[in-house]
Amino acid sequence: MKIEPKVIVHGGAWDIPAALHQEHREGIKQALEHAQSALKSSDDPLFAVLEAIKFMESFPVFDAGRGSFLNARGEVEMDAGLMVGKDLSVGAVAAIRNVAHPIEVADLVRTKTQHAFLVGEGATEFARERGIPLVATEDLLVGRERELYLRLKKQGKVRIKSFFEKKRQRDTVGAVAINSKGEIAAGTSTGGTPYKMPGRVGDSPVPGAGFYADDRFGGASSTGWGEGILRVMLARTVIESLKQGQSAQQAAESAVGELRLRVQGDGGVIVIDRNGNMGFAYNTPHMAVGAASGEEILFIQI
Ligand code: ASP
Repeated sequence: MKIEPKVIVHGGAWDIPAALHQEHREGIKQALEHAQSALKSSDDPLFAVLEAIKFMESFPVFDAGRGSFLNARGEVEMDAGLMVGKDLSVGAVAAIRNVAHPIEVADLVRTKTQHAFLVGEGATEFARERGIPLVATEDLLVGRERELYLRLKKQGKVRIKSFFEKKRQRDTVGAVAINSKGEIAAGTSTGGTPYKMPGRVGDSPVPGAGFYADDRFGGASSTGWGEGILRVMLARTVIESLKQGQSAQQAAESAVGELRLRVQGDGGVIVIDRNGNMGFAYNTPHMAVGAASGEEILFIQI
């Protein structure tokens, strides 16, 4: 069966203020366009995921790449991961510093090492060795995050979960794509949470939590309270539901339901099933999400 290539992307789930809707909409639109042209030229779902996420990592409204939150030491540490549903290959990096596109390094881990996951200095060093230009922390910083950091520093102790309960800012990005042959890829990239402990890693780069893809069932990418998403393995929960015959939309809704029920977590997830049906669900006031099929943008919603 030939499938119309499709892509769904997200740019975080939280109480996105009206003043930021237009910027989010624009970011989602351009991410979809990057993925659409990648699918058109290559019919490669991984290339589409990479193109969408790389764009969002460079678009400062999102908490990924440039625009990431600062940790408690005033540094930018980023996490990203991706998965190919055909062979279940995975590449991931966590607490990586000084790179513009963590998702690109994640893919290099997948293709150029015998490993699946590199963290911290090892990940940054690997990126440098592979010829990825290192960038200064200042180049990843935007004024908004510097101000937030200084505010939190003054305040002293920060309860990470309160960012999620109070529906404060978080703009992790993710994408799932399917090509004409029904091959699926998924990925997620984030700067994590504001004022996190140095070395903190959430769900985003962890296969099964932040993303998952298996061509037999579908693919998913998550966003939200990482410490909770890790515990319910949100992306893998979606895949299990698809496996049991739920639709893409039902699988998204039941996984987010599980996040709330089991760990009182907030967040959202995007899904494509093996037939190219798409779904998404979130339990926050807003989620930046959009989808495209072939040349057509199906929707963009904040
Ligand atoms: N899940 C991310 C994390 O906990 C944050 C987010 O999705 O915005 O690192």
